[in-house]
Amino acid sequence: MTSSAPLPTLAALENATEFQPRHIGIDAADEAHMLSVIGEASRRALIDSIVPRSIARSQAMDLPAPVTEAAALAELKALASRNQLLRSFIGQGYYGTHIPGVILRNILENPAWYTAYTPYQAEISQGRMEALVNFQTMVCDLTAMPIANASMLDEATAAAEAMTLAKRSVKSKSNTFVISGDTHPQTIEVIQTRAAPIGITVVVVNSAQEWEAALAGDFFAALMQYPASSGWVMDWKTDVEAIHAKQAAAIFATDLLALTLLTPPGEWGADIVVGSTQRFGMPMGAGGPHAAFMACRDEFKRSLPGRLVGVSVDVHGKPAYRLALQTREQHIRREKATSNICTAQVLPAVIASMYAVYHGPEGLARIARRVARYTAILGRGLAQLGFTALHHDATFDTLCLHTQGATDSIAARAVAMGANLRKAWGDYLCISLDETTTRADIELVWKIFAKDGQALPTVEAMDAAGEPSLIPHGLARTSGYLSHPVFNTHHSETGMLRYIRQLSDKDLALDRSMIPLGSCTMKLNATSEMIPITWPEFANVHPFAPADQLQGYAELDKQLRAWLCQATGYAGVSLQPNAGSQGEYAGLLAIKAYHAAQGHAHRNICLIPSSAHGTNPASAQMVGIQVVVTQCDANGNVDMADLQAKCEQHSQNLACVMITYPSTHGVFETQVKELCQLVHSHGGRVYVDGANMNALVGVAAPGEFGGDVSHLNLHKTFCIPHGGGGPGVGPVCVVADLVPYLPAHGTAGQSGTVGAVSAAPLGNAAVLPISWMYIRMMGAAGLQAATEAAILSANYISARLKDHYPTLYASANGHVAHECILDLRTLKETSGVMAEDVAKRLIDYGFHAPTLSFPVPNTLMVEPTESETLFELDRFINAMIAIREEIRQVETGAWPQDNNPLKNAPHTAESLLAADWNRPYAREAAAYPVAALRSNKYWSPVGRVDNVYGDRNLYCSCIPVSDYA
Ligand SMILES: *Cc1c(COP(=O)(O)O)cnc(C)c1O
Repeated sequence: MTSSAPLPTLAALENATEFQPRHIGIDAADEAHMLSVIGEASRRALIDSIVPRSIARSQAMDLPAPVTEAAALAELKALASRNQLLRSFIGQGYYGTHIPGVILRNILENPAWYTAYTPYQAEISQGRMEALVNFQTMVCDLTAMPIANASMLDEATAAAEAMTLAKRSVKSKSNTFVISGDTHPQTIEVIQTRAAPIGITVVVVNSAQEWEAALAGDFFAALMQYPASSGWVMDWKTDVEAIHAKQAAAIFATDLLALTLLTPPGEWGADIVVGSTQRFGMPMGAGGPHAAFMACRDEFKRSLPGRLVGVSVDVHGKPAYRLALQTREQHIRREKATSNICTAQVLPAVIASMYAVYHGPEGLARIARRVARYTAILGRGLAQLGFTALHHDATFDTLCLHTQGATDSIAARAVAMGANLRKAWGDYLCISLDETTTRADIELVWKIFAKDGQALPTVEAMDAAGEPSLIPHGLARTSGYLSHPVFNTHHSETGMLRYIRQLSDKDLALDRSMIPLGSCTMKLNATSEMIPITWPEFANVHPFAPADQLQGYAELDKQLRAWLCQATGYAGVSLQPNAGSQGEYAGLLAIKAYHAAQGHAHRNICLIPSSAHGTNPASAQMVGIQVVVTQCDANGNVDMADLQAKCEQHSQNLACVMITYPSTHGVFETQVKELCQLVHSHGGRVYVDGANMNALVGVAAPGEFGGDVSHLNLHKTFCIPHGGGGPGVGPVCVVADLVPYLPAHGTAGQSGTVGAVSAAPLGNAAVLPISWMYIRMMGAAGLQAATEAAILSANYISARLKDHYPTLYASANGHVAHECILDLRTLKETSGVMAEDVAKRLIDYGFHAPTLSFPVPNTLMVEPTESETLFELDRFINAMIAIREEIRQVETGAWPQDNNPLKNAPHTAESLLAADWNRPYAREAAAYPVAALRSNKYWSPVGRVDNVYGDRNLYCSCIPVSDYA
C-alpha cells in the first residue's frame, strides 16, 4: 500500500463481508473479462436479459446482515449451547456411539470424502464404492441375507420401502400390512403416512392374541422389530413360516450390533430386513444423518429400491465396482420406478462400513457383549431395588420397567440427575445401553430408581449374580460373520489411516477439481460451514429428548425456515424430508390432502413435462397420483399448447403440474407465470421442483411467481456437501393454504394432516448448521451475488464453447440460466464419439464429467456454480476444446473410430506402461494431452468399466481375494 492511499474507516474494516469473496470464485476483473466474452456490458444487463421481467422479485430478501466466519461460528455456538447434553438412555433407534478418531478426522471431516458426488462415473469413484461394497457385505453377513443395498434414508423410510417392495413382490393379493406394535413408534408413523395414499391398510397389533388373529387373516406382509422397541428378543421362526404359508412376506427391522450376538433373521427365512447403522459410529445428531439399510431375498433383487454397488470388470478384465441395476432407475422407469430415492446416505454408510473394518468381527462382538453384560447387571440391580423388567429374561440392550404409577416422577428425577429415560407407554419406562455406557452410568440409573435410604447395588455383586447377558440361549448366534480379509486387516490405527487414504486417493472430489454437474450444483462446502456439525451440542443429541432440551435445534429450525421462506417466497417450510425426492413426496402429499379437504379427492392427475427429473414421476406414483406427460417444444420449453389441451382434458381431475424452474434444459422460460395461472384456473396446484434454485435465490421466488409447493435441495443450493451421494436435506416449502399439510410427527391418522415422512422430526438435523452458516455469512446481497455469478459462469462457458460444442437450448437472445447443455449428438455421425466417451476422456484431463445424457440423451449438462475460479473455468473449457480437437482427428480419419484416446479413455498408468503399446496415438498424448497435467495428474485406478457384464453377473459383496491374483 502506498502512503497516499486513503485509510479505510473503522466501520469499513469492521463490516467487511469476508466470506462472500471466499465463496464466490470470480472477482470484479474476472467478471469484466467474462462479460466481454459473452458480449454484455454489465452483470446487471446480463441478468436482466436472462431473468424474465415478469418474475423478478418485488423486493430483496429480508435476511440478517452478513457476518464473518468467526462471528457466525460464535453466534451458532451460542445457539448450539441451548441444546442440553444429558446422558441418553432413550434408545428407540438412536444410541450413543464412539466414532473412532481416525474415521472422524479422515472421513467425516475430510473433504476428499464429503465433497465427492454420487458414484455414477464409476472410474473416478472406486474408493467410495469399495467402502459401499464393504457396507453391503457387512449388512449381508450380520443379517444373514444374500443381498443388501447402500443405502436407505433412515430406518422408518426403509421399513416403508420394504412394505412397498413386498407389495410388488409377493403372491398374496391382500392390501393389509401387519405391524407388531412393539416397533419403534416413528417407524409405525412413517409407514402409516406411506400406506394411506396407496390404499394399504395398516394393522398395528398390540397383543399376542391380536397377532395370532392377524396372522390367521389376510395380509401381504408383516413387520416385526427384532430386538423389539421395548428390548424384547423373541424367536420369530414359526411366525415366519406362518407368514409364508399366506404367500406373504416377513419383514424385520433390526439392529446390527445386536445381531453380532443374536440369531439373524435371515436364518429364519426372512424376506426383507431393514434397520439403521447409526450406532456404527454416527453420532445421534438429533435424528440424522444416518445410513439405513435394506437386505432382501435374492428373488427380490431386481426390485430393491435405493442404490446397489456391484462388481464388474474394466476393459482390461480387472475387477471394478460400479452402480448396478438401479443406476438412475427413476430416470429410466419414471412413474414405474420402484422408489424415488436419488440422494441417499453415502457418507454415513461409508462411516458405518469403516466402523466395521476398524473393529472387525471380534471388536464388534466385544462391544456388543459389554452392552449386553451391562444390561444384565443393570437389570439385576433394578430388580434388587424393586423394579422388574418386562421380558427381563430376553433382551440385548434395553430394559422396559413397570413404574407403578411413578413414570413421570422417575423421568423427572432422571433429568434432574442429568439423564434421559424413555417414557414408552402407560406405566413403562425404557432404558437402553450402548457402546458409550460406563459403570458410572449404571450406578446413576440405580440412584435414579432408588428410594431414599435404599441401599444401592454394586456392579461387582450384580455381575456375579447371574448370566453374562439376558440373551436367551436359543437365540444366541452360532454363525460367523465378517470373515472377509477387509474386516480382519486394518485394526491398527496406522493401517486404518492408510486404508482410508488409499481409497480416497482413487476418487475425484471437489478437493481436486471442479465437478461441473448440471442440476447437481457442486459448489463450495466451506470449512466454516462444516465445523459445527461435529460439535457435541449438535452431534450428541437424541431426537426424542424432551423438547425443552432441544432449544438450540428449535431455534436453528425456526431461523432457517424463516430464511428459506425469504429465499423462496413461500409461507411455510418443513425441514423434515431427508432428500429432494422426499421433499417432492411430502409436497405431493400436501397437495393431495388439500384437495381431499376441499372435497376433491378425485383430483388425481399430475401433469409432468417430458424433460422432468425422474424423481418427479416416481414421487407422484408414491402418493397414488396418476402421471400425464406433456410435451416440450423445439426450443426445449414446456409446450404451452399441449399443456393447455391437457389441462382442459383433465380439468375435473387435475391435481397439479410439476415443473422445474429454470427448466432442466437450463433456460428461464418466459411464460412460467401464465403456466401457473392456467393450472390454477383449472383448480390444480403448481409444484415447482426447486433443484435449480441456484439460479433463483435473490433474483426470483417461486412462491411469488405462482408456485404452490417447492422442495429445495440444501445439498445443492445451500452448501451441504454431497457426501459421495448423501446426506441431503430436501425442505418442502408451501404457500399459506397448504401449511396445515406440512409433515409432522404425532399426527398419524388425524384427518387434515399428512403425518411424518422421516423417522426424526427434523430429518437430517445435524447437517442443518451448514446451510445456516452459509446464509448467515452471505446475507441477502451475497446470496444474490452468488446466483448472478453462477449464471455468469454458465454463460461464459456456453459462449466460449459455442464454436466447439453448441449449447442445445437457450433463450431467444442466446443466453442460458445457471447451466448449459452441450450438444454432442452430431459427433456420433462424424466420428462415432458419444457424450460418454468425452465424459471418460475428461477423466484423463483430471475432471469429473458433467451430467451425462440428462435430460437429453448424448449431451453433457455443465453447471459451473459460482464457486469456481476463472482459472478453473478456463482449465475446463480448454480441456473441452482440446478434446474437440481430438475428435477432429477421428473425423479426419487420422485415428480410427474404435481406437482413439476417447474410446480408450480413461487410461490407467498400468495400461500406458504396457510393453506392447500398439495404439495409433502416443502414450504422452493419452496421459498428458495438456502440459499442466505433467505436474498435477489424477490417475484413474481402473479402465472403462463394463456395465453390461456387471448386470449379467450380478455380484454385490466384497471381492474374494483370489480374484485379485
Ligand atoms: C437432484 C434433483 C432431484 C432429486 O433430489 P435428491 O435430493 O437427489 O433426492 C429432483 N429434481 C431435480 C431437477 C434434481 O436435480
